Amino acid sequence: MPWWPAGFARTPAARAFEIAVGAVLTQNTNWRNVERAMANLERDQALDTAVVRALPDETLAELIRPSGFYRIKTGRLKALATAWEEAGGYPALADWDTATLRGWLLGIHGVGRETADDILLYGFARPVWVIDAYTRRLIGRLGFEEQLAALPYDELAARLLANTVDATAERLAAWHGLIVEHAKAHCRVKPTCADCPLQDRCAHGRAELL
Ligand code: SF4
Repeated sequence: MPWWPAGFARTPAARAFEIAVGAVLTQNTNWRNVERAMANLERDQALDTAVVRALPDETLAELIRPSGFYRIKTGRLKALATAWEEAGGYPALADWDTATLRGWLLGIHGVGRETADDILLYGFARPVWVIDAYTRRLIGRLGFEEQLAALPYDELAARLLANTVDATAERLAAWHGLIVEHAKAHCRVKPTCADCPLQDRCAHGRAELL
């Protein structure tokens, strides 16, 4: 899948677990901090379910400390690795249909909707929308149907998917990446509309022109 930075894995199975680990570690922090934690895990060959399960909590917590909330995330990674192995690992998980896989992910301690959909889209190439704060912000500002951006997660994701033409996982993965990059470059909390390429299509941006 394009965009998601999973740079260590050599196989689809390793890549899926690396993405899942990154999706947990990026909760409530920025990706720069995640990269430092991921580099520690890679250095100690800990991007592996068996290793994550076997490491003492204190050791794992120290490795992921740069990502913040490291004690909470230690428990979440342990739960993820345990569930992953008990389900049969990547070959078994990759065979499940998307609804089953999503339901299983949401049953793991510390995996919410956004984290589950990151894993589904980038780790398992399933065509789902990831609804994060960047996506809601952009939708709200572009001037789509009123209240769309405020819909509950699953409802908004379903509405977007139903209205997406050619919604392949590859395209959705690329679009989510573009939304994130656009939100970081232009559509920040305080947007820089003057140099935004979407300004003439954006309700908020057009208002800024007046
Ligand atoms: S014009 Fe402004 S509000 Fe609209 S997308 Fe661009 S940065 Fe965001």
